[in-house]
Amino acid sequence: MTNYQWKRIVLKVGSALIAPEKKGCSSRYLLHIAKFILQCRDMDIQVILVSSGSVAAGAHFFGNIENPSLATKKAMAAAGQNEMMATWDRFFDFPAAQILLTHGDLQDKERYDSVRSTIFELLDHGILPIINENDVVTTDALKVGDNDNLSAMVAAAADADSLIICSDVDGLYDKNPNIHTDAKLIKQVAQIDQSIHDMAGGAHSSVGTGGMKTKIEAAEKATSHGLSTYIINGFKEGSFEQLIQGNNPGTIFTPYDMPMKTDLHWMTHTARAQGELVIEGDFEYPLDENSAQLTSHDLVEVRGEFSVGDTIFVRSDDGKHLAKAQANYSSCLLNFITNHEYSDDSHEFIHHTGPLISDKNIAVLEQEDRV
Ligand code: GLU
Repeated sequence: MTNYQWKRIVLKVGSALIAPEKKGCSSRYLLHIAKFILQCRDMDIQVILVSSGSVAAGAHFFGNIENPSLATKKAMAAAGQNEMMATWDRFFDFPAAQILLTHGDLQDKERYDSVRSTIFELLDHGILPIINENDVVTTDALKVGDNDNLSAMVAAAADADSLIICSDVDGLYDKNPNIHTDAKLIKQVAQIDQSIHDMAGGAHSSVGTGGMKTKIEAAEKATSHGLSTYIINGFKEGSFEQLIQGNNPGTIFTPYDMPMKTDLHWMTHTARAQGELVIEGDFEYPLDENSAQLTSHDLVEVRGEFSVGDTIFVRSDDGKHLAKAQANYSSCLLNFITNHEYSDDSHEFIHHTGPLISDKNIAVLEQEDRV
């Protein structure tokens, strides 16, 4: 999809653009970003803004202390979020709306659908959604942790065509451009493989939490959902001018030819596994409609606590085969089944009640460390 065909984009702006000197918000770089948002809207392209910067914008209220405690950081986020929204608001003559999310909101299907419908309603009314992680209420278990990945989850949830991630360098380089003067800009990435992940190590900004690594993770999430993803230099006005002219000013990651189905994508890239089901090593792989009828005899071990409908890992007892799936039974019941000898009748009980995992939504994972 070229820029001229965009219907809906997600633009991710990082802390270094919002509060470059850590003295509260600055219009220095935001002016050209706001102009780009306006131009898109004039071209009938709906824009969703994912804006970091609450902590950076609020730090000056707390004397810019060196190593703030977690409680102070949360307080900075609360104060800075207000200042950041007010700053964005000043650029626009149309309304903006604040949406603060945690991973818990995206992990829960009902809340996820509620976020989706709120975004659609805002866009239908010409209101600009401005999204950030709700740093005040997040805990380690509940947070996404960086806004690059959050922006990709939002882009998938909002059925966007393209994700544009602003960076402090021109795009993805074959090596760190801050260290190597001969580093070359990669203009287009058709497939995100290990070599691309290897290139991403290093390029970090001093403000904000994401480096190039999280941008590649975001690109992987977005392209597998069928979105093109750009990494551009957000500090350069020319990047946005080029985008408006239909050009690629940085690195474009082209979308998968065969995007993942929405539910499967959500399970792979958004939902987190609450527990694990270990089953006999010789199960058919990948799990499909015919092979997913796991019975009590296949169960080796149940790990963690989960409820019916939760996302879980399924792995073979040799540790090799791994999938994510939806549990049709709670961990409590599965533990009971695993630890009791059954007659054939009991086996029937499982059979008639249905498979232990949902056989429609099984995401087979290539590598555990990408989850
Ligand atoms: N949510 C954080 C903030 O607003 C930013 C996270 C990030 O930089 O990715 O300060």
